[in-house]
Amino acid sequence: MKFSIKLVLSTMIVLALALGFSGFYFVNYVFETSLDRDVGQALDESSILGFAFETAALNVPLKYSVLPDSVVEEIASKLEMGGQSGGRLLRIADEEKNILYTSDGFTADEGLLPQTDQHTKSYRVIRAQDDYYVHTCVSINALDRILYLETMKSVTEVFTERALGFSLYRKVTVVMLLTGMVIMLFIASLLTKPIRLLTKATKRMAAGDYTYRARQISRDELGQLTRDFNRMANALEENICMLEEEIEAREEFMGAFAHELKTPLTAIIGYADMLRSHKMDEEKSIMSANYIYTEGKRLEAMSFRLLDIIVAKQEEADLQETSVGELFEYLREMFAEKKEMDIRFAHEEAVVWVEANLIKTVLVNLIDNACKASEINGVIEVTGQAVNDGYRIAVRDYGIGIPEAEQHKIVKAFYMVDKSRARSKNGAGLGLALCAEILKIHHSELQIESKEGEGSCFSFILPVENRGTYEE
Ligand code: ADP
Repeated sequence: MKFSIKLVLSTMIVLALALGFSGFYFVNYVFETSLDRDVGQALDESSILGFAFETAALNVPLKYSVLPDSVVEEIASKLEMGGQSGGRLLRIADEEKNILYTSDGFTADEGLLPQTDQHTKSYRVIRAQDDYYVHTCVSINALDRILYLETMKSVTEVFTERALGFSLYRKVTVVMLLTGMVIMLFIASLLTKPIRLLTKATKRMAAGDYTYRARQISRDELGQLTRDFNRMANALEENICMLEEEIEAREEFMGAFAHELKTPLTAIIGYADMLRSHKMDEEKSIMSANYIYTEGKRLEAMSFRLLDIIVAKQEEADLQETSVGELFEYLREMFAEKKEMDIRFAHEEAVVWVEANLIKTVLVNLIDNACKASEINGVIEVTGQAVNDGYRIAVRDYGIGIPEAEQHKIVKAFYMVDKSRARSKNGAGLGLALCAEILKIHHSELQIESKEGEGSCFSFILPVENRGTYEE
């Protein structure tokens, strides 16, 4: 059953109970008040009637020392005639509670007589056929006799009014319940709208639409739930995007890897086949063996690089205080033999917080790339300087540069701007991918500024432990 219907039904049950009880209480209260009033009137009337009887008895001629039964009957029949609407209903009994006179239509039994004595009045409400009466009984002193006067006063109207009240209240209750139900349906539909919107969003997301968000239409707990749901959806979407990107990158990597393996392997297999199946002169044999060797070397270099990348990806950062001077000293020594390039080093002294061997690998790769991109005797500047958020090391060359559209792709594994040129220089497109992984460990990333034909600048910022200044 729908939540809104449950809400409506439970409200209706509460409303019906409240209306039922209050209606019953109200109608009954009115009934009892009216009945009490009529009982009071009946008792008053019977007292007045008793008094009238006693007065009439006083006027009886003196010849009777005891009021005879015939006179009692006579007075009773006169009193009976004095009723407002066609006569009173009364009954007279003597001291022994023997009935002396009974009006026509006085149908009450003699149940009240034993309960009544000279000092007490008694009454009860009785039903005779379809009518209700207040039956009263009082004692009267007529001359020297004690008599008992019983009266019957109709209270049918009070009962009829109660029945009418109940029937009217039933109708009002039904109308109010129906009206209340329509209003509650509307309110329940408004209240449950955020739940419907959330359900819709959940279904859309389950069907694969991760961009869909639930509309927030209230500021209450359900609004908060919608906000939290959307926050959760954002996180989910982000994770799914990341996973998709990762899968895409992995597929791209596998494709490029297979391609890069295929090229040297084809050459190796081709030349090896030639060597074993043909008799060749010495010069050709040496040439074939040479191809096999260089392509094999390329494969070896590629597998080492790949291993480096895998290791760098899994590496836990073990950063230590390292002097920038020590890093630059290493680089200067390493490239001292490279006389065909003009490599210039300049740095501010500082202590950086790095894994020295890994950062050396990054710098060697960047300087190697700069050499490959430059003409013979080209200038390459390697600089280090303190900046606001750490220590910046940059490798600048004035070589061929990188087209703008390619700049964001070159850090991907196996990506080479000019494949034949890169391969001719023993490149496999893995150096920058390795640099990026190493810098990730240092919470840093590679910045590339380059202009085709003018040169490139690769830089990154390292975390700093301490700073000093030193000019080379
Ligand atoms: P490779 O082993 O080919 O050098 P890298 O990942 O180091 O692989 O570089 C990827 C590609 O980026 C290179 O093939 C080259 O086309 C381009 N590249 C890298 N550094 C430079 C540079 N300083 N100037 C111009 N192109 C560069």
